[in-house]
Amino acid sequence: MIYADCAAQRPPREEAVQAVMEAIRSFGNPSGVHDVSSRASAMLFDARKKVAEALNAEKTEIIFTASGTEADNTAVFSAARNGAEKGRNKLIVSSVEHSAVLNAAREAQKLFGCTVELIPCSKDGTADMEALAKMADDRTAMVSLMTANNETGVIQPAREASAIAKSCGALFHTDAVQAAGSIPVNVRDIGCDMLSLSSHKFGGIAGAGALFCRENLDLFPLLYGGGQERGRRAGTQAVPAIYAMGKALEAACSAMDEESAYTAKLRDGLEELLDIPGAVKAGSAAKRLPGTACVCFPGRDGEELALRLNRLGVCVSSGAACSAGSSEASHVLDAMGISSETSKGALRFSLCSVNTEEEIYEIAEKVKKVLA
Ligand code: PLP
Repeated sequence: MIYADCAAQRPPREEAVQAVMEAIRSFGNPSGVHDVSSRASAMLFDARKKVAEALNAEKTEIIFTASGTEADNTAVFSAARNGAEKGRNKLIVSSVEHSAVLNAAREAQKLFGCTVELIPCSKDGTADMEALAKMADDRTAMVSLMTANNETGVIQPAREASAIAKSCGALFHTDAVQAAGSIPVNVRDIGCDMLSLSSHKFGGIAGAGALFCRENLDLFPLLYGGGQERGRRAGTQAVPAIYAMGKALEAACSAMDEESAYTAKLRDGLEELLDIPGAVKAGSAAKRLPGTACVCFPGRDGEELALRLNRLGVCVSSGAACSAGSSEASHVLDAMGISSETSKGALRFSLCSVNTEEEIYEIAEKVKKVLA
């Protein structure tokens, strides 16, 4: 079997697998006062230190969550509530955001009476900064622009968007779920107030995410209960998944240069092999994450192609994994001006350092087979 769906879930790194086993065996609730609890809280400390170091943040700025979705939702709802209290009732999010941001913003509209405006993007999948500069004003509570897109891999101008948000006194959030571990992500360079991560995207296991929340920012928690995460996220932390997240991110960052050069070469090779008449490469003109390629086969059904590839032993997705099964065309490809006839035939190939050159040839051969 060939696995080329690493943007949905990267195969776990050995460091993460070891960490999970170690944490499960030593167990313990990190909030207690005895030695068993101390073992667990030492693991949380280790993970917090590693995540903070990877992002150039302080340990106190890292809040552990259960997923990237939870981190995104916390950021959006907190900013909306914060804004509502200050007379800032506009949320600006990009048109190519993951549904964890887009749907949270739509919900915040109902809950806090704010308005939501979408930053348009260009044909290459990059959010339009001139448009953002015109949209942002002193009524804006928050601007949210992802660091890199999950369907196309297009790297977004997060630093520029942050500067625009700051110039009108708004908060800036970036969803770095796909970017972290693949490209450098530095919260001070970006200038973000909040940033989201998800462990299973960089080689940890599902069940852990993190929200960077700048020191002194008023954060409204999503979950209320005990005082975990300094009162910013109640609920007992999933120590094995969080401990593994720290180890996975550390490993990803230390191997980043080598892995990204290797993966980009595979991705470029695959795109070349799939450069067949009629195929449309989405976002390939932009700066992208090393492993992601989105290729559309107009008139075809991407979901059906993915199912047929699966029967031939190749795992890919027809777009964002979380919207699999939906018959709607991708909102990301739609925002890029790609017709639904073309975007419905999209396949996302997402590679990482575990893939090989031989696999690339085999993927291309099997794609051609299912198209024939
Ligand atoms: N944001 C982006 C860009 C993603 O790609 C994903 C998952 O695919 C998420 C958020 C949601 O993360 P999680 O699956 O950890 O909830």
